[in-house]
Amino acid sequence: MVENKREKTLFTREEISTRVKELGKELSQVYKDKDLVIISLLRGSFIFAADLVRELSIPVEVDFITTSSYGHAEESSGNVKIVHDLRTNIEGKDVLIVDDIMDSGFTLEKVIEHLQNKNPNSVEVCVMLDKPSRRKVNLSPNYIGFSIPDVFIVGYGLNYGDHYRNIPYIFTFE
Ligand code: 5GP
Ligand code: MG
Repeated sequence: MVENKREKTLFTREEISTRVKELGKELSQVYKDKDLVIISLLRGSFIFAADLVRELSIPVEVDFITTSSYGHAEESSGNVKIVHDLRTNIEGKDVLIVDDIMDSGFTLEKVIEHLQNKNPNSVEVCVMLDKPSRRKVNLSPNYIGFSIPDVFIVGYGLNYGDHYRNIPYIFTFE
């Protein structure tokens, strides 16, 4: 697809679907007597969040936050900003932040702190992909689709430059 680069599929559409169903089942149990609000971080998690909420068998509110980080385009710096905030009042509610991938952890650390200030009952994190070897903060997701080594991921919501978010499987370039 990209000149001189060969794709290597890490997770097929079917593998992703199976894992998302499992996560949906687990979360439906965990949050069955709670007041669940899913907060999807744009833009990367829009596909995962859309699939995940459709695997929940419990009531759920859905809202979005957009963050930006300045520095190298493919790597977040410690300087994460909330550029578009929630509209939902989350006071006393049970928040599950949904993101595409935890890399350094700077983004999720910032978002958790931001949401805690709004006095929710609880805040947990679910990511499709976790790259634990890259972590720069003391934080781990509560729920993980797949744990992966330090490779640059594209597809299933994750971009390469301005494109490829729509590719329905997860791949890397060799
Ligand atoms: P962190 O703040 O944890 O370093 O990174 C969070 C964000 O960086 C992710 O939500 C994602 O947007 C981007 N990111 C981190 N690793 C990758 C990757 O392998 N591929 C792509 N496309 N984006 C990534
Ligand atoms: Mg992101």
